[in-house]
Amino acid sequence: MKILVVNAGSSSLKYQLIDMDGEKELAKGLVERIGIEGSRLKHSAGEKSTVVEEPIPDHEAAAQLMLKILQDSEYGVIRSTDEIGAVGHRVLHGGNKFTASMVVNEDVKAAIRECFPLGPLHNPANLMGIEACEKVMKGTPQVAVFDTAFHQTMPPKAYMYGVPKMYEEKLHVRRYGFHGTSHRYVSRRVCEFLGVKPEGKRIIICHLGNGSSLSAVKDGKCVDTSMGLTPLEGLLMGTRCGSLDPAVVQFIANNPLNDDGTPVGHPISVDEVLTMMNKKSGLLGISGKSSDCRDVEAMADAGDENGKLAMDMLIYGIRKYIGSYAAAMGGVDIICFTAGIGENNDRLRAAVMDGMEFMGAKLDPEKNKGRGEKVISADDSRVTICVIPTNEEIMIARDTLDLVTLGKVRDN
Ligand code: ADP
Repeated sequence: MKILVVNAGSSSLKYQLIDMDGEKELAKGLVERIGIEGSRLKHSAGEKSTVVEEPIPDHEAAAQLMLKILQDSEYGVIRSTDEIGAVGHRVLHGGNKFTASMVVNEDVKAAIRECFPLGPLHNPANLMGIEACEKVMKGTPQVAVFDTAFHQTMPPKAYMYGVPKMYEEKLHVRRYGFHGTSHRYVSRRVCEFLGVKPEGKRIIICHLGNGSSLSAVKDGKCVDTSMGLTPLEGLLMGTRCGSLDPAVVQFIANNPLNDDGTPVGHPISVDEVLTMMNKKSGLLGISGKSSDCRDVEAMADAGDENGKLAMDMLIYGIRKYIGSYAAAMGGVDIICFTAGIGENNDRLRAAVMDGMEFMGAKLDPEKNKGRGEKVISADDSRVTICVIPTNEEIMIARDTLDLVTLGKVRDN
């Protein structure tokens, strides 16, 4: 069966068509600037690629264009949309309702809507993507795969915040965690790769990309993760500040600065502070130049103090989480690096693991060099350290296939 994987943002729609017979990627693409001037579709199928520039007013038009190019005589890979067995959608926030992926029906859509306040930027866009596909592919099953679902096994001591309990009971204020599809894929894949069972294993996964999160996985189940109610908590990220004293929000709201460092002169709202903490902070805010780890590392190499500080903060934060998750699980057997930075930046991996022999984790500098799925720990390291490239799309496609063929999701 061919499964279409869709990740809809507020002005974008990413897609990938996968033939589940062999899990082969047939085509992928990105519709950008939906509803904005300069909208376009970038599409590739094998060696062939193309860009279509035309007005794309809304997500329905984007979905229509996606289907048109997938059936195109030159760049297409299917003859009819009937060949698409089902569509799997990435949905950011499933709240505390969803512990697994679901076939979309009116109740599931209502629940995604209920989570709008928890994922105000993503959930409305994700729902738009679902509704657009429902309209242009009538009768094709749609599946929602939630970024939060894998983390729903966390115990209350890990997901509760220390505010009055009624906030969790009445308003569901708690840690949810994100990148769950990636954490699930990597935690399963690493066991398959090493030929071990998840049962009895304590795994720490470092998903380090533009957005970054760590998770602690024991016996195949997530027991803790670094992101919280929203993706803002945890590590220093590309543009997000990560964890800080909540009183900083009040202080900055009362004493805001313009981009040039001069005082604004009047208080700003909490929403404005959070926008700054989400979009202008992290590597970007500390380096003053870029949110991209490659740029910031190059700054540090050229002797820029702010670039060096940003890298030091990122590395120090990852080390602290690894130490705390090892303590929380009573030890660690496997540490995995994944996503853009985790998969590609061997220097960062070396800096993170430097001096971790005290907890039985010893990197092999030679094995650590370069990219690809591999073990990077020394032969005498008690903890196995690995690089596992993530593949959220394949996980979404597998869940989608399972739900439409078996009626339930297998633990794969
Ligand atoms: P997203 O969270 O947007 O999916 P990615 O997982 O693509 O982000 O990660 C983006 C980060 O990965 C950037 O900081 C970038 O510097 C880093 N990165 C991506 N590719 C490489 C590479 N080839 N070498 C080093 N760093 C890389």
